[in-house]
Amino acid sequence: MLTNPRRDFFWTKCLEVLMSKIPETAFFTWFTNLELIESEHNAVTIGTPNNFVLDYVSHHYKDTIRQAIEEIMESSVDVSFVNLDKSCNSQYTGTPLFEENDHGVLQDSFTSPALIDKTVLDSTLALNPTYSFDNFVVGDCNQLAHAACTAVAEAPQNNNFNPLVIYGGTGLGKTHLLQAVAHFVKDAETARKVVYRTSEEFTREYIDFVAKKKDSASFYRVYQDTDVLLIDDIQFLAGKKSTQEQFYSIFNNLQQLNKQVIITSDRLPSEIKGLHTRLLSRFDTGLLANLQPPKLEMRLAILRKKQESDNKGFISDEVLSYVANSVASNVRELEGTLIKLSAYACFTQIPVTVEIAKRILGDTIRNENKPITIKKIIRDVSLEFNVPVSHLTSQSRKRNVAEPRQIAMYLARKLTDNSLPTIGLAFGRDYSTVIHSLKKMETVMKTNIEIRDRTDSLKEKILGGFQE
Ligand code: ADP
Ligand code: MG
Repeated sequence: MLTNPRRDFFWTKCLEVLMSKIPETAFFTWFTNLELIESEHNAVTIGTPNNFVLDYVSHHYKDTIRQAIEEIMESSVDVSFVNLDKSCNSQYTGTPLFEENDHGVLQDSFTSPALIDKTVLDSTLALNPTYSFDNFVVGDCNQLAHAACTAVAEAPQNNNFNPLVIYGGTGLGKTHLLQAVAHFVKDAETARKVVYRTSEEFTREYIDFVAKKKDSASFYRVYQDTDVLLIDDIQFLAGKKSTQEQFYSIFNNLQQLNKQVIITSDRLPSEIKGLHTRLLSRFDTGLLANLQPPKLEMRLAILRKKQESDNKGFISDEVLSYVANSVASNVRELEGTLIKLSAYACFTQIPVTVEIAKRILGDTIRNENKPITIKKIIRDVSLEFNVPVSHLTSQSRKRNVAEPRQIAMYLARKLTDNSLPTIGLAFGRDYSTVIHSLKKMETVMKTNIEIRDRTDSLKEKILGGFQE
């Protein structure tokens, strides 16, 4: 084997030429672990860290590598590959096969899937152990998403739905399902490596890499031999052009290798403004599964299930029915309400009756028959944006007041039957100011994703109650 500086110089030159021919992500994914073993009589041997890399590189990049070497050597060459499988090599003194990340989660520090005997779950976040398939209540509203997730978790290599995109409003179980897949794959060892990231974490990691806080090899290596990639809340990639490009490249590599990708989104991906059409069109090739708000019967089933797994204060079925009938806009709020009642029962040791529940929950439960008022909207906007009600109804033109005021006027128009002059009056304005605000909001809702998301979730909150 060549061990002289000339070999190193030659290999560095080869890598430079290759870097100019291959997209950056692919280069860092596949080439940083290669080694030049031999270069004699126009025969070049390249070492790979494992069979997986050997297969991929020899299939996809053999010609590119040969051309790069021929450019440098100015003569024709033969290229062959050899598996170095470093972890079996007694002389190998590099990084250990596994390292623990900050959260104590096992991460592979060196790619050698053939030798991994336990499934690796790589997540920068601690996953919620209760988000399992067993704890997930299935009904009409989530049947397809649940079935697709279990099928994928049981046999990721089948690639029946790839990518699988789960979408639906907040608090409807997207994260629960995605983490259930992670737990299942890990426990049943149906694949060797499963990676879970929220798109925000992915962005953060990518920014660290761009800012050189993280080296490229460790950034790309996470995804290099991933069998199942789980990305939560893809909508946060909207508008982040270069992060999307990186993501697309990783996604593409995995898809070419028939590796499973599951993505969640808070809306139909095509409705996410600022997501590249290239990415969107790839989502269309897989399965899109929607999560809908649960109907009454299922809300009750979810409450019963939660109560079963929660051994705090016991809540009677009558009270559970009352909660299922009247509460909130999603499962998360349903759950929050149950926790509140259980805590009361636990601390006071008094059984919770419907009357007590009504008293404890008070304002948090919206009476379906109670109309939404402009006053309530102003109060909710005030809480959301931390601006006093008196400022919202004042003449102040400061941006931190004017913007929430416009949102409040917009919501008053959308959610109540009040006329423009009446809405104006509630804000101490005339109707023409309301028209101006509504026009402005129509534009903002199309162009400013952050305000749109905030306004939409506020709207959902004010509306409360499930639609039957
Ligand atoms: P999302 O990611 O869609 O915003 P989550 O997955 O975080 O929602 O769910 C919110 C809460 O509701 C979680 O505690 C989750 O366990 C619970 N939940 C949602 N759907 C179900 C379901 N079908 N069965 C049991 N719990 C559910
Ligand atoms: Mg979520």
